[in-house]
This record gives sequence, C-alpha cells and structure tokens, in this order.
Amino acid sequence: MSTAIYPGTFDPIHNGHIDIATRAARLFDHLTVAIYARPLKSLLFTVEERREMIEKALGHIPNISVATYQQLTVEFARQIGAQAIVRGLRVISDFELEFQMALTNKKLAPEIEFVCLMTSQEYAFLSASTVKEIAMLQGCVNNMVPPHVAQALRAKFARPGNQEENQIRLVSLRD
Ligand code: ADP
Repeated sequence: MSTAIYPGTFDPIHNGHIDIATRAARLFDHLTVAIYARPLKSLLFTVEERREMIEKALGHIPNISVATYQQLTVEFARQIGAQAIVRGLRVISDFELEFQMALTNKKLAPEIEFVCLMTSQEYAFLSASTVKEIAMLQGCVNNMVPPHVAQALRAKFARPGNQEENQIRLVSLRD
C-alpha cells in the first residue's frame, strides 16, 4: 500500500492546501495530512482548531486522515510507515526552500521520497499569511478558504481586545 504524508502548519487550511491534498490523495492509497504542532512561526489557531478545520475540509475524501506531530517530519513519516512526503510548489521562491529541505531530509531518511505538486494556477499566490492578513483587515476571504474557515477567521478577529492580530506576520507569500 502506498502511503504519503502532507505536512504543514495549516494555520489555517486554505484552498491551495485543499487542492494539493485532493490531488495527492489520487496518487497514493492513503494520505495523512500532518499538522506540525511546533513551527518556528507565530500561529493564529491552536493545533486542535487547525485539526478540526482540516477534518471538516477534507473529511469527504475517504483515504485522507489527519494527524499532528512534533518531531522531525521524516521521523513522523517513518513512524506511520509513509514512503513519501508531499509538498506544494507555488512561486519560484518555494522551490529553493523545498529543494533544500528535500536534500536535507534525504540525508536523514534516504528511503523516503519527496513529491512536489505544482500549485493550480488560481492558487499560485495564496498563502495562509495572505489569508490572515486580509481577514484581520476585515476583507473577504470567501474565495480563498472553505466557509467554515472564513467563519473561524471572522470569529478570531471579531473578538474585542484580540491581541492575536499583533502577533502574526503581515506580508508573506512564503510562511
Ligand atoms: P502556508 O505556506 O499556506 O502557510 P504551510 O506552511 O502549511 O502553508 O505549507 C504546507 C505545504 O503546502 C507546503 O508545501 C506549501 O508549499 C504548500 N502550499 C501552501 N500554499 C499553497 C498553494 N497556494 N498552492 C500549493 N501549495 C501550497
């Protein structure tokens, strides 16, 4: 059975992630969307909130499951018996980082393959940071995320005295 993981922070999941996960699920018998719980970047949503949003967005695809992890990505892949790690590529700058990560991970776990899927054209400039910035400024994100994620973003930024808006980085295509 071919098994892959699709790791990321998914803070929050958006249509670009959903597109990659949906397409990867057609290539492998099973795909685990793996939420990295301890990234070196500030987060808007808790790991449980991110998990719930992903489950709701991808729950209709029977060969996708969702998990969280805190160790090295390749260690997590090994732990669940995955043979491949799926990543999405947007603009050229993604390539440099993904290439570096792939080569480093290959040293750590030579048996695991890296599979990069090109973004679909309409999502080429979509990132979680962009979505958060637009939502923070009360803009409409309806064509970037599923309705339940748009609702969660509105709820986060509607709270009076919400400090979180000061903690997220504002401009980034790569986060
Ligand atoms: P983001 O950069 O949106 O915060 P993550 O850091 O969670 O996403 O990244 C998870 C994976 O999804 C990475 O491989 C990233 O390159 C990929 N990805 C993110 N946004 C897109 C997109 N719009 N199209 C294709 N892949 C994407």
